[in-house]
Amino acid sequence: MQAARLEDGTLEIQDVPTPEPGHEEARIRISAAGVCHSDLHIVRGDWVGVPTSGVIGHEAIGIVEALGPGAERYAAVGDRVILGLGGTGGGYWCGACEYCMRGEPRHCAQTQGIMGTFAEQFCVWAKSLVKLPDTVGDEEAPLACGGLTAYGAVKKLLKHHIQPGRSVAIIGAAGGLGHYAVQIAKAFGYRVVGVDIGAERLKFVESLGAQVAVEAEDALEVVQSEGNGVDACIVFSARMAGFNLGLKLLRPGGLFVAVGLPATSEGNIELNPFEFFFKDPTLIYSAVGNVQDMRELVEMAAAGQVKSHIGRVGALSELGTIFDELEAGKYVGRAVVTDLGS
Ligand SMILES: [Zn+2]
Ligand SMILES: [Zn+2]
Repeated sequence: MQAARLEDGTLEIQDVPTPEPGHEEARIRISAAGVCHSDLHIVRGDWVGVPTSGVIGHEAIGIVEALGPGAERYAAVGDRVILGLGGTGGGYWCGACEYCMRGEPRHCAQTQGIMGTFAEQFCVWAKSLVKLPDTVGDEEAPLACGGLTAYGAVKKLLKHHIQPGRSVAIIGAAGGLGHYAVQIAKAFGYRVVGVDIGAERLKFVESLGAQVAVEAEDALEVVQSEGNGVDACIVFSARMAGFNLGLKLLRPGGLFVAVGLPATSEGNIELNPFEFFFKDPTLIYSAVGNVQDMRELVEMAAAGQVKSHIGRVGALSELGTIFDELEAGKYVGRAVVTDLGS
């Protein structure tokens, strides 16, 4: 079967043996695999410490075609499923530790990631699979990371007592994650201030239902003209400028949710202690989501409340070109690979 692999920082499409499902694993025939910005960061070596060799891809939709011992308790051959859980949402978790018990399997000492969905066939722990209704098409594969990550971030607003009706700034609102967050935050009942760059992107943000769509350079003025700042901001930008803007837009006592992961070369978040004292923000990070979050998001997609904006569709053999186009900003929204056998 065909699969993408990173060899010392070089992307290759290789012919590899069909994997056999192990204990509690299911083998999936992949029908569509999403291209995530983090795949690009890994391929380009942007994140110091992340290996430059190995399989890539962590968002997919496919059909269960074989089960390893014990997996029949969680999946059946023929099930249509969404898989990936954002790569780090749980390719395995112990289920009994402090983190697992509170729904954060990403921090479980036994956690394993899910990586390698740019392949015709892929084996994955069956407990991490979420069944898909037929009304959710294969083009929704990016829900498995882009959608899930946005959902996890918006859900944290409730956990931190930001009530529906309050204002939320979404920095990078037209992007691969931001466009989900606008739809999800709107469905949750928040007042969405979508921040991005360029008229075309802002028009897109408006079409998704944001109450305000504003250029990054005008955002502070617009937000201040309406009051003393937003109740929360969710930063999807992979630039430190987006993080700094998010902090500026917050009202005193507001919630700052970081999601974007800028390249190591972008430097650190800087916060002056006096600004910290006056603004007194709650700073949190939100990464991916767990299997229950994935189920809830699939329900929202089935109800038509959230939809992936697909800007590019291609075959596995085009993956390298798709990464170049993503880097150059040649398409808006997400890319999906639908022909894995080429
Ligand atoms: Zn991802
Ligand atoms: Zn655990």
